[in-house]
Amino acid sequence: MPQFDAILFDFDGVLIDSEPLHCACWAEVLAPFGVKLDWDYYREHYLGVDDRVMIPQIAAGLDPPVESAVLWAQYANKRDCVRRRLEHPPFAERLPGLLRGLGREYKLAVVSTSARVEVEPPLEAGGIRLYFEAVVTGEDTELHKPAPDPYLHAARLIGARNPLVLEDSAPGIASGRAAGFEVLAVTSAAAMPELLLARLAASSVTR
Ligand SMILES: [Mg+2]
Repeated sequence: MPQFDAILFDFDGVLIDSEPLHCACWAEVLAPFGVKLDWDYYREHYLGVDDRVMIPQIAAGLDPPVESAVLWAQYANKRDCVRRRLEHPPFAERLPGLLRGLGREYKLAVVSTSARVEVEPPLEAGGIRLYFEAVVTGEDTELHKPAPDPYLHAARLIGARNPLVLEDSAPGIASGRAAGFEVLAVTSAAAMPELLLARLAASSVTR
């Protein structure tokens, strides 16, 4: 029996290198309010951070400060921007083949804090939605990463007892660990397949 019975993938930064795109869309819709958001700053401070946590921080940092609700009112515009740009999702070419192979041995699910409209359509457009037994998004749990709830919810949905979690951000890693699951930290979606296959090969040697 394999050590793991399921693999739970975060979406942004694990299946797709879309974080720069989220940053660019926030920068675009918040620019009229004097917000300057560049990728280096975003990567250092906001990677994997819930938008609902990030926006009050950005609002408080403005001089003069702006009401958080004023910036948050741009959320729908930001979501539309992401949706437009993800109509042609930049998944790695080898991803469908990788998922097809993994699906023969493991249950697979996606666990993201992003909105469902930001996750399901690109999975469909990329032709990889069919490999996942569940797609958990921000709407599905009251508490988000770093709370364990999203990963516990996904494991329950697919009946996983010992899943391997793949995450790229500190809140995501904390969430998977709080759920009691092993977490493989990945540095990017591009690097994910190598790291995952190496981890699975190691567990099959020791089992
Ligand atoms: Mg992520």
